[in-house]
Amino acid sequence: MSIQANLESVKKSFLNPDCTLIAVSKTKPLEDLREAYNAGIRDFGENKVQEIQAKQPEMPADTRWHMIGHLQSNKIKYIAPFVHLIHGVDSFKLLKEIDKVGKKINREIPVLLQMYIAVEESKFGFDRAELEEMLVSSEFTNLSHVKIEGLMGMATFTENQEQIRQEFRGLKQLFEELKNRILPDFMKMTELSMGMSGDYQIAQEEGSTMVRIGSAIFGARNYSQG
Ligand SMILES: *Cc1c(COP(=O)(O)O)cnc(C)c1O
Repeated sequence: MSIQANLESVKKSFLNPDCTLIAVSKTKPLEDLREAYNAGIRDFGENKVQEIQAKQPEMPADTRWHMIGHLQSNKIKYIAPFVHLIHGVDSFKLLKEIDKVGKKINREIPVLLQMYIAVEESKFGFDRAELEEMLVSSEFTNLSHVKIEGLMGMATFTENQEQIRQEFRGLKQLFEELKNRILPDFMKMTELSMGMSGDYQIAQEEGSTMVRIGSAIFGARNYSQG
């Protein structure tokens, strides 16, 4: 199937038309991104700084770049001027580094806090205790050049749909709890990034506002060539 046909079928199975579809184009060539762009996609997700850097100048200026992977502190500066949203902010340390870079270039950099919701050891993210600790620290309230727009999470890679649902539900619950709290001005709970090719329908049922979909649009990735 063509990318355009894949996009149509993904869109058709959306439960929430207001949910933002981020086309995850990591490892895929520019032709594929252009095809998706021509089919109406403006939001693209990548997980490597080098790859975003290489693709960004080649795509139209209104392309929105989402950094969805683990970000290393020393690479923030390469995407800071143009990145639309950094989804994978998984530690206070990284958040502070992003703030520092933002200050330098005078831009409030939009981010999501990645929460650890899976049972796998390998996934990145804050746990509840770390989040709470950060929220009450004065170093946090003094941040000036980040805009925290919400939360991101990845469910466990499992066939167990009920487990996935419970993990998404827990993240949504936290999202709502935070929404009802008094937060600094730079922190607004508007986006909840959860759902990938295998679980975006469950994620939407559980309240996702952004889904990050790769293989269902572009086909399987070939890492040996990527
Ligand atoms: C690769 C990736 C996706 C997309 O995965 P698919 O299963 O191909 O849809 C979504 N989110 C993150 C964080 C990823 O790294």
